[in-house]
Amino acid sequence: MKRVYLLAYPAGHSVSPAMQNAAFAERGLDVRYEALEVPPAELPEVVARFRGNEVLGANVTIPHKLAVMPLLDELTAAAQAIGAVNTIVNREGYLVGHNTDADGFLLALADLASDPSGRSALLLGAGGAARAVAFALLSSGVARLDIYNRTQERARALAGDFQALGRIEVVTPEKLSNSVSSADLLVNSTSVGMEQGGVTEDISPLPVGVAPSGVVVDLVYRPPETRLLREARAAGCLTQNGLPMLIYQGAEAFRIWTSQPAPVEVMFRAARDQLVPR
Ligand code: NAP
Repeated sequence: MKRVYLLAYPAGHSVSPAMQNAAFAERGLDVRYEALEVPPAELPEVVARFRGNEVLGANVTIPHKLAVMPLLDELTAAAQAIGAVNTIVNREGYLVGHNTDADGFLLALADLASDPSGRSALLLGAGGAARAVAFALLSSGVARLDIYNRTQERARALAGDFQALGRIEVVTPEKLSNSVSSADLLVNSTSVGMEQGGVTEDISPLPVGVAPSGVVVDLVYRPPETRLLREARAAGCLTQNGLPMLIYQGAEAFRIWTSQPAPVEVMFRAARDQLVPR
């Protein structure tokens, strides 16, 4: 049996084990996916063990996405640009770090038949997920990407890192309303509205009275419909929560580990069963 691990701390309630184990079973592969709770001090020792023949690779999540980078032999261009690794593949003892969040985001957007090329987009947030979305949107040729974040300095830093990829502008609170109404695509990559510790606050990252008009994607998937999505749907927008991106980033990782296309429908079903236990 081969192994794939999830590096996390704490391991929490990730849906990845259910989703990936369902995918391996569907393809008849003798592979087991298992979450490992790894304290930061133990990361180098654990990653060194991934070079062993029985390990296909790993996923990486909070708080290890950056710390794992210098422990690997090679990073893909996307992982370097985004500045984080969420997937590792073991190629006969040689560890390659990938970031599948950007591709996952674009594949999810394609489900909405939404092509960002030549469009204007507004990205809320400037954390790790925002960096993957900014890379994805700029790489696919958005005409303009606005960034708004509670901490403006972080938005400026993100814009500085990605300015060579396209037109990217930081939005001040005074200009937010204008940016929202002119954006063809609005993406929430903040954690506002996310269930935390079993509690969901019914709050939106947008100020009261500011309503989007284009496509609205919220990377939050727990709860399935945040206040932002509910209000956007009521305003007639096409909406999507974070579940498709979660599935497609996992499907990309599956493809990297196994060199086979992932059974995406099976992964959706397994993830939904985890998120809404029957
Ligand atoms: P992160 O690096 O910690 O960034 C958090 C972001 O949220 C920052 O921009 C932060 O702003 C903002 N924020 C947090 N609390 C806020 C508040 N009360 N008001 C305004 N802004 C606030 O987290 P991340 O890894 O980027 O993840 C962000 C969200 O995306 C999470 O909900 C996560 O579950 C989701 N996500 C989903 C997927 C998927 O596949 N669907 C993948 C990755 C992440 P400051 O800079 O001002 O602190």
